[in-house]
Amino acid sequence: MKILVINSGSSSLKYQLIDMENESVLAKGLCERIGIEHSNFIYKAHGQTIEQEVEMPNHNTAVRLVLNKLTDKKVGVISSMDEIDGVGHRVVASGEAFKKPTLVTPRSMELMEEIKDLAPLHNPAAIIGVNACLAEMPNTPMVLVFDTCFHFTMPDYAYMYAIDYSHYEKYKIRRYGAHGTSHKFVAQEAAKYLGKDIKDLKIITCHLGNGSSITAIKGGQCIDTSMGFTPLAGVPMGTRSGDIDYSAAEFLAKKEGMDVAQMLKYLNKKCGVLGVSGVSSDFRDLTDAADAGNSRAELALNMFTYNTKKYIGAYAAALNGVDVIVFTAGIGENDNLVRRKSLKDLDYLGVKLDDSKNDSCPRGVISEIQAADSKVKVLVVPTNEELVIARETMLEAKLG
Ligand code: AMP
Repeated sequence: MKILVINSGSSSLKYQLIDMENESVLAKGLCERIGIEHSNFIYKAHGQTIEQEVEMPNHNTAVRLVLNKLTDKKVGVISSMDEIDGVGHRVVASGEAFKKPTLVTPRSMELMEEIKDLAPLHNPAAIIGVNACLAEMPNTPMVLVFDTCFHFTMPDYAYMYAIDYSHYEKYKIRRYGAHGTSHKFVAQEAAKYLGKDIKDLKIITCHLGNGSSITAIKGGQCIDTSMGFTPLAGVPMGTRSGDIDYSAAEFLAKKEGMDVAQMLKYLNKKCGVLGVSGVSSDFRDLTDAADAGNSRAELALNMFTYNTKKYIGAYAAALNGVDVIVFTAGIGENDNLVRRKSLKDLDYLGVKLDDSKNDSCPRGVISEIQAADSKVKVLVVPTNEELVIARETMLEAKLG
C-alpha cells in the first residue's frame, strides 16, 4: 500500500511517497518557484538527491514531473502510477465545514471553495494541488487532511472569542488552531514511548518551528491551543507577532499609513523574533548573535521562551496538572537553549530538566530529558506530519 502525500503552497509543492507496509519514505522532494522563472525540482530517493532547474508554469506540470520521476526507470521507486493507492492533501484551514479528514468529491471541493477566505494564502493553493493531482490520477482516491481537525475537541469556552455571538454564528470567527497533525502525532508517540494509554495522560505539546503553537491534550483530545482564527496568534514566531493588542496595530497603522492588508502582512512577515532582533527569523542565527553580545537577539530569545513558558503554565492550569511536556519541530527538536529557558523555574509544577540530557539529546529519535526527580516527563519527539496525513488517508479512503 503506497500513499502519496502532497503539501501545496501557492508557488511550491512538497511531496512524499510512503510505503504503508512499514511506514518508510520511498521518495520525497519539493517543487519550488512554480509559475515563476527558474523553477526548481528536488527529488530524493535511494539515498540520493537530484536537483534540477525545470520549467514549471503551473501545479499540473509540477505533479506530472513528480509522477514521471517516481516511475522513472533509473531513479524511480514504483513501476507505474497505478501503484499509488491514495493521495493525502494537507490543508491549512477547515473552518467548521470539515471536522475530520474528508474524501475528495465534487461536494467536498465545493465546500473547499466556500471556505477559501479563511486562509487566503494557503487554502487556494491546496485546491490547485488537488485539481492538479486529479488531472493526472482521476481514479485514485484522495483525502483532504486539515491542520485544524485535531483541535475540534476544544470546548466552546476555549475556542470562542468574546465578540458579538451573532458574528460567530454568521462568519464562524473563532479559534481553530493549527499544526493539528503534528500535535496529535507527537502526543501519540509520547504515550507509546512511555508505555501508557494516552487516555490516562495530560500532555502539553510544544510545536516550535518557524510557526510555533502549544496545545493542551487531555486523554488524547485537544482542549486548548495557542494559535487562533489563523496561525498569527500565540507565542511570537519567526516572523509572526503572536498575540498583540489590536489597538496597538491600529495605532501603528495610522502612524505608518498602512491599510488592513498591509498591517496583516507586516504582522505575519516582519514581526516575531526577526522584527525584535533585526537579525534573523532563524534561531541558529539568533543564538549566534546573542552569544556575540547582540542584546536584541537575546531579547527576542527571552520573549520567545518566556511566552512559551506562560502557555505551559496556562495549560497546566487548564489541564489541572501535567504528566508530559513534549518539544517538537525545528526549534523544539534541535534547540537545547530554548528548551532550557522555556522550562526554567517551573519546579513548582514538578518540572525539572536534566541539563546534560537536554544538551546531548540525539537527533531524530525520541529522548527523555527530565531530571530523575522530575514529576513531569519531558520528551523531545521528532514530528512527522506527512506520516499522519498518510495514515489518515488510508483510514478515510478505507484502504488496506
Ligand atoms: P520548522 O518550521 O519546524 O521546519 O522549523 C524551522 C526552524 O527551526 C528554523 O527557522 C530554525 O529557527 C529552527 N532550527 C532548525 N534547526 C535548528 C538547530 N539545529 N538549532 C536551532 N534551531 C534550529
